[in-house]
Amino acid sequence: MSAIETTRYPDIRNYIGGTFVEHDADRYLDVFNPAEGSVISRVPLSAASDVDRAVAAAKAAFPGWSQTPIKERVQVFYRFKALLEQNIDELARLVTEENGKIDSEARAEVLKSAELCEFACSLPQITAGEVLEVSRGVECRVEHFPVGVVASITPFNFPNMVPNWTIPNAIALGNCMILKPSELVPLSSGRIAELLREAGLPDGVLNIVHGGQETVEAICDHPGIEGISFVGSTKVAKIVYRRGTSNFKRVLALGGAKNHLIVMPDADPDMTSSNVVASMSGCAGQRCMAASVMMAVGKSDHIIDRMVNIVKSMVPGTHIGPVISAAAKERIEAYITEAEKMGAKILVDGRGYKVKGKENGYFVGPTLIDNVTPDMRIAQEEVFGPVMVIIRAKDVAEAVSVQQKSPYGNAASVFTESGGVARYVMENASAGMVGVNVGVPVPREPFSFGGWNDSKFGVGDITGRGSIEFWTKSKKMTTKWNKEAGVNWMS
Ligand code: NAD
Repeated sequence: MSAIETTRYPDIRNYIGGTFVEHDADRYLDVFNPAEGSVISRVPLSAASDVDRAVAAAKAAFPGWSQTPIKERVQVFYRFKALLEQNIDELARLVTEENGKIDSEARAEVLKSAELCEFACSLPQITAGEVLEVSRGVECRVEHFPVGVVASITPFNFPNMVPNWTIPNAIALGNCMILKPSELVPLSSGRIAELLREAGLPDGVLNIVHGGQETVEAICDHPGIEGISFVGSTKVAKIVYRRGTSNFKRVLALGGAKNHLIVMPDADPDMTSSNVVASMSGCAGQRCMAASVMMAVGKSDHIIDRMVNIVKSMVPGTHIGPVISAAAKERIEAYITEAEKMGAKILVDGRGYKVKGKENGYFVGPTLIDNVTPDMRIAQEEVFGPVMVIIRAKDVAEAVSVQQKSPYGNAASVFTESGGVARYVMENASAGMVGVNVGVPVPREPFSFGGWNDSKFGVGDITGRGSIEFWTKSKKMTTKWNKEAGVNWMS
């Protein structure tokens, strides 16, 4: 596929100390519009010296920002939330432009960013300290202090929301941040920075350094960075976790996923079929919470037939966007071809899809594959496209045992009318986020987001209450002002 060159957006620049700046990168990557297969901008692959500059700006901003009371810090996020809502048309357009999501999905992403800000605004209430008189006249208290300069490394699939998983909480808690967005989707982050500046965020509190592997390695090695959050594939999550922790930083690294939906024969057929299809095809299957394996238990063909009808009615380009790149389209189609060769039955085939007027776009139609066995690569590896494989199971125990063998553990769900079956799956699924009659069991604020196993490395979660411990250091203070308090072992 040949790319059409356009100059729709100027070259992407780093954002350091409150301004867009030149960089030391000697290499660039093209940025594509995946629906058109056209080049829309260029992103620099920043050097270690660019990371140095961002760390220096963040360090300079840290004393002032960390000493600003939290009730004042969160005022920025009240205003930022309002700006996200006011500018939703433009922000959603940017997401669609660089990631390919259809408009309704892009808008939902921006609204989710607003919800994340809402949680950050509640942090003064949630982090109010603990205090207790532990013996006569002696008081213990715990206070949360910011970690310092931190970094957030993000993937391509949510250009607006995933940066906002970390920016509001980390910054409201007093940290200064370096954001390293995915080089595939660098546009949204620049607008996020501008809106935060408009909301009153002081210069240097948020900095953006664009780039790829080399830039991430410089972040992992930089002595001025105290903590790193990472969201992306398991392969890179492991690299960042190892390299960051070996440099004595705190690291929380969220990885890839293979999410199982267990469908029982008693499940409500209409709700289940539409929810399962929405889970596998939403955002073109490029969500870490997308279902990619359906464990069809017992006689569930009446539900599968409905899914086939829904999937056949979906029009790529209208109901489902493209995948991120030509390479992703090729990879996803290769998985389908291999499964077919191994004896799986393609119920609906999305390979080779062309959208009229967007013939260069990276579209894969929604695909359903039956008679898949747990040993096939397509059943085990993350495909990250609009593909659902169906594995037959005789009962819920067999279905759960397939889920438990996956090295991942982001999400799992069960569709059933039975409370006992639901409870069995909730207890036994080896995943950090479990749903009952929910296709995408994302916990909404104030609950935290985070998987298990190869889907997350490190302690804590990335959003909600679970993120507070990651973004702060607790100080335990013991005081005595009463001279008559007496003498004991802790005097
Ligand atoms: P990716 O791992 O390729 O890239 C993520 C980040 O790592 C990017 O910023 C990229 O520049 C950087 N990077 C890439 N290769 C690197 C290397 N060798 N060394 C150092 N840094 C490197 O992920 P992606 O393709 O952008 O995103 C899709 C993946 O993210 C999927 O696996 C998906 O499941 C996962 N994801 C997980 C969650 C979650 O919450 N667990 C959420 C969203 C996405």
